[in-house]
Parts: sequence; structure tokens; C-alpha cells
Amino acid sequence: MQKNDELILKIEDMGVDGAGIGKSDGMTFFVKDAVIGDVVRAKIIKLKKTYGYARLMELLEASADRVEPNCPYYRQCGGCQIQALSYEKQLEFKENKVRNNLERIGGFTKIPMEPIVGMDEPYHYRNKAQFPVGTDKEGHIVTGFYAGRTHTIIPNRDCALGLPVNREILDIVIDFMEKYHISAYDEKTGKGLVRHVLIRCGFSSQEKMVCLIINGKSLPHGEKLVEALRKIDGMTSVSLNCNTERTNVILGHKTIVLWGQEYITDQIGDISYEISPVSFYQVNPVQTEKLYGLALEYADLHGEETVWDLYCGIGTISLFLAQKAKQVYGVEIIPQAIENAKRNAVKNGIENAEFFVGKSEEVLPEFYEKEAAAGRKAYADVIVVDPPRKGCDEKLLDTIVKMAPDRVVYVSCDSATLARDLKILCEQGYELKRVRAVDQFCHTVHTEAVCCLHRVNM
Ligand code: SAH
Repeated sequence: MQKNDELILKIEDMGVDGAGIGKSDGMTFFVKDAVIGDVVRAKIIKLKKTYGYARLMELLEASADRVEPNCPYYRQCGGCQIQALSYEKQLEFKENKVRNNLERIGGFTKIPMEPIVGMDEPYHYRNKAQFPVGTDKEGHIVTGFYAGRTHTIIPNRDCALGLPVNREILDIVIDFMEKYHISAYDEKTGKGLVRHVLIRCGFSSQEKMVCLIINGKSLPHGEKLVEALRKIDGMTSVSLNCNTERTNVILGHKTIVLWGQEYITDQIGDISYEISPVSFYQVNPVQTEKLYGLALEYADLHGEETVWDLYCGIGTISLFLAQKAKQVYGVEIIPQAIENAKRNAVKNGIENAEFFVGKSEEVLPEFYEKEAAAGRKAYADVIVVDPPRKGCDEKLLDTIVKMAPDRVVYVSCDSATLARDLKILCEQGYELKRVRAVDQFCHTVHTEAVCCLHRVNM
């Protein structure tokens, strides 16, 4: 068996990144774009000792769970890895992914898993998109999505996960750039001006934000762009974000408002939120409401509790919880997000929420030490964490264990790091009581999960 050989594979499983898995001669092969139940002809592109990667050449027998993808670019684009799989099976895949990680990485045996929360209409669900801007071989300005694992732009202004208004906005931005000879940024040379177009839309409010991320400090003829964008219904904020670093990180530190205000407002449940371009805000508002509802249910609040919400962003979960708790403290690393959080509390008439800027793994341990030095024990009934994919720092987990809240609610967007962190907590006095996946990212391999841990007497 060697590279470029062709094999017939029956796809029997799917890997964490969504590739189909088939076996041949005791070797395991990963085939991108093949789904469970397919029989495919595939060409070996990489061979290791016990496994390899193969390219899908021909679909010999289509799986009963295969569906016609909604997007013509799905095989090239890196965004939706499992769009060819029926939505029902996607949900099964995600629930299994969470369960497997808890078993394999977390070492859990009895997992109190509840059925995954799926979406009724799993398309056009994203309230945010960041489109890279570039130049094609003919010198035209293009925008779209990066091809999987590369930075080659596939021109596409109609992503099936995004909103139809994205196309209108992108047409305006690209026409403007061509008309006024505004250059696109080139990652290879570090030259050129416009790097990305960030679009955000409040689903309840219908307010829209456009932010151009530029490799510079100003946008020539910016007033002309504003004039055109203002015609779009609900346009609320047009801004520039300056990022002159040669980096893959999209956003820079400085935002300049070109027109309107810096933020848009949106509602989830009974709470309304201000969101600025650099702040994190869940991308699927329909599912977010269900996710926060579960976090609230798992927190089991009755009005007397002290709650910490770590990695709080613009205070979304904090304010949801504050309605049912005595006092909520939120911690978040991005200063603008904390400004949003503070204003969001005021806007919603919530007086029992306080916010701190800093790293969770520094703010909470420092608070604990300060209280200890004053002869007090830092107290919490419930601690909620909602970290980015890399999960929680061990220093934070140690402090949580020391504070010994009755309940820990863990909201996670990566079940591998979730499992790693739950293992640490469950070795030190906690028991996993409830787990539920919520599909926030339909057609991708990613899923959100929320867990509830109770303190047990040791
Ligand atoms: N709970 C919020 C945000 C969750 S996303 C919501 O549902 O909207 C994770 C957040 O953690 C982001 O806002 C990110 O800026 C923040 N963050 C990342 N690393 C952090 C750290 N070490 N300490 C505190 N916040 C951090």
C-alpha cells in the first residue's frame, strides 16, 4: 500500500473533525467529505504506520443519511464539514462526540447525558460573519471564505449559514473598493488596506453593524461607503478596526466609528445587550436562548445565591442569572466587553451584578487570597465558567475547588477541554450531575455543551 493508491472503502465512523473513517487491510483511513454509510473510491494522499488520509474520488454507494448540501462550495470551504450528512445524524454525531470525550479524556463511566438540543431551521442562523478580503489573479477584489486549512479565498458572498443581508453589504463594500481603488490586504507582503469585513446583525432588534478591519489608520473616501451602507435597513454602526500587525488574529485594538454608534443592541429572553465589534457574542441567538436557559436551570437559583460568572463576555449569562440570584460577579479579559456588560446591567435595571476586567485565572485567585488575608473565606454558591476552546486554567480550577461552591455550571464550546477540566474537578469533590449538548453551530463539527456539577461531601 502506498501513496496515490486507490482503495474502495466502506465508511463506518466519523472522526472528530467530521472526516469519514473506513478500514482497509487493518489500516484506518480518514476521508474528508465521506459520511457514515457511504461506499467510496478514495486515493491515498498520506500514509502513516497504522492510519492514513485519502481523497474522495467517487461516491460508489451513497449513505442513506447523505443529503444534498445546501451550499455549492461546501467541499472547498473550510466552514461546514458535515453539511452532506442529514441534520438528524449531525446531532447524533455531536452528542456522541461529547459522550466519547467525557469517557476517553474525562474517564467518566456513567454519564448523565440528556438529549442534544437541536435547531428547527438549521440554516441562516449566524448573526456574525467575518469575510476575508483579497485580490484575485485578474486583480479584482474578492471576498468569501478561506478554503479548508488554507488562506486562499473562495469567492462567495452567499454563505448558507449567514444572513441574506451579508451579500448586500459585501456588494456595497467591494463596489466601493473598486470604484475608489482601495486595495485589499495581502498576507504575503503585509501590504494593502482592507483585511476583513465584519458584519453583525441583532436578530431581535434587526440592528446591523459593519466594521472594516484595516491595515492602517484611516479609509480614504470612507464617507462614500457610509452613504451607501446607511441605505440598508437597520444599519446602526459603521466602523473601522485598525490591525497593522502581521498576524492571523483578525481584530486589532483600536476601533474608530465612521457613522452611528460603536455598538448594536440585541435581545435574548428579557434582557437586552449592547455589543461592540470586539466583544464576544454567541453567534446563534436562537440556540443561545436555549443554552442560557439550561445554564440557569442547572444553576438552580432561588434568589439568595452568590454567583461568579467567569469568562462573562458582555455579561450575557451574568445578567440572565442576576434575575434569580442575590449577587452576580462577572470576569472577562476584554475591557470593551466589560464596558458593554456594565452598561447592559444599567440598561436592564439590574443592580446586583458587578464586573471585573482581567483573566479569570488571576482575578478569582487574587480575590480568594485577599479575602483569606482579611480572615474571610471567598464565598460562592454557584460558579459558572464559559471559557474559549482551550478551557480553564488549572489555577482557576484550583481556586474553584478551594471556594467549594455547591454547584459548578460549565458551558463549553470544546468537549475535549471540557472533559479534561471536569476530570480535575471531579477528582476534588465534585460529581457530574447533568450534561447536555446544544447545537449552536449546525453543519460544522463543533458543538456547545453545558454541564452541572454538584459538590459532594468528601
Ligand atoms: N459567557 C459569554 C462569553 C463566552 S466566550 C457569552 O456567552 O456570551 C469566552 C469569553 O472569554 C470571551 O468573551 C473571551 O474574551 C473571554 N476570555 C478569554 N480568555 C479569558 C481569560 N483568561 N479570562 C477571562 N476571560 C477570558
